[in-house]
Amino acid sequence: MAKRFQQLPGIDTLLQLMTAEINTWGRDAVVNNLRDLLVRLRAEIARGGTPDCAIESIRDNAIAALSALNVSSLMPVINLTGTVLHTNLGRAVLPQTALDAVMTVAGSPSNLEFDLESGRRGERDSHVESLICELTGAEAATVVNNNAAAVLLVLNTLAMGHEVPVSRGELVEIGGSFRIPEVMARAGCQLVEIGATNRTHLTDYRNAIGEKTALLMKVHTSNYRVEGFTHSVAEVELAALAAEYSLPLVVDMGSGNLVNFTALGLPREVTAAETLAQGADIITFSGDKLLGGPQAGLIAGRHDLIAAIRKNPLKRALRVDKMTLAALAETLKLYRDPDDLLKSLPTLRYLTRDEADIHAQGQRLLPLIKQTIGPSYTVTVERCLSQVGSGSLPVDLLPSSALQCRPASGHDESLRRLQQSLRDPPVPVVGRLHKGSLWLDLRCLEVKDEDALIGQLQHVAP
Ligand SMILES: *Cc1c(COP(=O)(O)O)cnc(C)c1O
Repeated sequence: MAKRFQQLPGIDTLLQLMTAEINTWGRDAVVNNLRDLLVRLRAEIARGGTPDCAIESIRDNAIAALSALNVSSLMPVINLTGTVLHTNLGRAVLPQTALDAVMTVAGSPSNLEFDLESGRRGERDSHVESLICELTGAEAATVVNNNAAAVLLVLNTLAMGHEVPVSRGELVEIGGSFRIPEVMARAGCQLVEIGATNRTHLTDYRNAIGEKTALLMKVHTSNYRVEGFTHSVAEVELAALAAEYSLPLVVDMGSGNLVNFTALGLPREVTAAETLAQGADIITFSGDKLLGGPQAGLIAGRHDLIAAIRKNPLKRALRVDKMTLAALAETLKLYRDPDDLLKSLPTLRYLTRDEADIHAQGQRLLPLIKQTIGPSYTVTVERCLSQVGSGSLPVDLLPSSALQCRPASGHDESLRRLQQSLRDPPVPVVGRLHKGSLWLDLRCLEVKDEDALIGQLQHVAP
């Protein structure tokens, strides 16, 4: 054992072999790394082990450890899950103009809160407010970190210490612990549950209104649908009731849609402008769901209410940064030209891809996938259904095609191994396990991105 300890090279000897690494990562990082390695080798020898103490292998291990440290944890992936707005995969892919705008403002000082005309302090909302108003018909608008923050801020501003009646059919949980009742409690207001899970009537709202009522609220049931013997109160009726009692009507729309979806061949989804026209005083919606922009929560509606919301000290804690504002402004600008939207906005491009094109793409990629994953799997091109995701249009599935990979052995273990090996490349490929197969739904792989996938497949060793 004493001999083995003696065989261990000293740090200085190792450092002489690692000048290139010292140049890349800095002397401190290399020294710390080598120390760690030597401590571990000594411990192993002390335990009676016989580790490889050759100077070259210690150097190689140090280089591997240094390279691993340098890999970013957050990285791009190829989304073949078939879910277009996948929350765990970062939701909307930003349009090019938004990416460019982020780069520009991130790398330079900007007039984020500086009025170039007066030379005085400006308002960060000003960079998007008029666009939001133009596209929704709202009098005023503001933006926060996400829609959960928007709901929290609206309730806290308009209903703290007061009551808010909400239909039992709309007490939504969005996943990742956003539940309307819990958000209401944190906003400091009292939820008054009304109606039943399947049916809520206008009289339920009317009966719930009292001295302490602050506003009426409607929540879009984003990720589920109550079917069968059901009734809910439409925005128009609720708006009339709210007006009768001089209460604001707040609508949490969830996904903020700004265009006529049926005209694009997509399932119908009410727009922000329609909801405001139906009498909502305040609407809230996400920036990175159907809108296809950055993570943000948009709040639009009556001028006096938006002014109060903006004055709430919580606004400062929930505000968005310059990169988000830059990306949001560019995304919204694209909506000024709805005819070009399908070209410019990735989310809508994915959602409206032609089923036949996706199928043809599957046929094209089939031989390559077969070759990549080897003979222990059978691969075929199969029709399947994609999801919009993020609780948008939950029951409306989009016809698509996928490469369906089945293990010849029929074993779940080999299926999991395949799934894992597709996640090995520098840009991991993420599919979906379903009914004993791995499905690679091609909806979000545009033809221009095929080469990127092919490049990554070279790194797959099943
Ligand atoms: C998605 C959603 C939210 C939360 O929005 P985030 O932008 O994810 O914070 C809130 N309410 C409804 C109805 C939703 O669909």
